[in-house]
Amino acid sequence: MKLPAFEYACPTTLAEAVALLAARDGDAKALAGGQSLVPMLAFRVASPGLLVDLRKLPGLNKIAVSDAGVRLGAMVRWRDILDDARLVKAHPLLVAAVKHVAHYQIRNRGTVGGSIAHADPAAEMPGICVACDAEIAVTGTAGPRAMAAKDFFLSALTTALAPDEIITEIRLPAWPAGRRYGFEEFALRRGDFAIAAAAVFYDVDAGGRAANAHVGVIGVGDRPARLPSVEAVLNGARVDADTIAKAAAATSAAVTPQDDIHASAAYRRSLVGTMVERALATAAG
Ligand SMILES: Cc1cc2nc3c(=O)[nH]c(=O)nc-3n(C[C@H](O)[C@H](O)[C@H](O)COP(=O)(O)OP(=O)(O)OC[C@H]3O[C@@H](n4cnc5c(N)ncnc54)[C@H](O)[C@@H]3O)c2cc1C
Repeated sequence: MKLPAFEYACPTTLAEAVALLAARDGDAKALAGGQSLVPMLAFRVASPGLLVDLRKLPGLNKIAVSDAGVRLGAMVRWRDILDDARLVKAHPLLVAAVKHVAHYQIRNRGTVGGSIAHADPAAEMPGICVACDAEIAVTGTAGPRAMAAKDFFLSALTTALAPDEIITEIRLPAWPAGRRYGFEEFALRRGDFAIAAAAVFYDVDAGGRAANAHVGVIGVGDRPARLPSVEAVLNGARVDADTIAKAAAATSAAVTPQDDIHASAAYRRSLVGTMVERALATAAG
């Protein structure tokens, strides 16, 4: 299907890009890699009057690794993450998740900023942001601000981003050495969006027990979520077969997925428990 008509701008500064978005009062959209926006235009799910291409904005394609954690510029592509050898140590859970994102061609164009702005509940990156307590940095006419990922995703395809705001950076907190983690996903085909997925990590205290457990789930609600009731099962416990079984059962009890064309709610509820079980087995193994 042909795209609807739109105007196109390719600014070279962030201020100019924000001003272009602000001037159209909701009738303009940022364009990153076009991997979600262009299909949405084709299907007439979106028909903005202006596309503001972000590709010439300086500094948005940088990956920074420091003691404070990992900072991903909004225009960092999936391919950039998989090609950056530092991230295998600096954020192995991110790398494990991105391996499940789409296919070769899409990874060459799709960006982290576009993924979280699009806010598909079955996408990996929003799930990683919530599971890891990431901070989302944005800039609009009111200036820069940062939001916790848990406050950023409001529901399916809906975020707390104002129409004149551009995501500039995703900040993932530092990843200590020795942290245990696992990422598990079930999709109909490799590279498809998740039917259900789980991102888990915990640290191990001096007595060999789990501490600071984070359990994030993807594809089982209108946005990614952490599951405090499952984290409570893990914190202070040895992550053995018994604890893992309890955590899996607590996961299925904690989620309220909907039926859709891909899977029934009951199937997803059961499946996500299995994803957490497998992710924890990887983490503990
Ligand atoms: C066949 C196919 C399979 C895919 N499979 C997966 C998958 O398995 N998992 C997965 O996670 N994704 C998948 N994707 C989506 C892909 O990961 C894209 O990278 C992602 O949707 C974002 O696309 P993009 O970066 O090109 O953003 P665009 O398509 O350019 O933009 C998407 C939305 O984000 C907004 N936007 C973009 N950048 C910014 C910014 N910096 N600030 C504010 N708003 C912004 C745009 O206005 C638009 O609303 C798939 C896509 C295709 C076509």
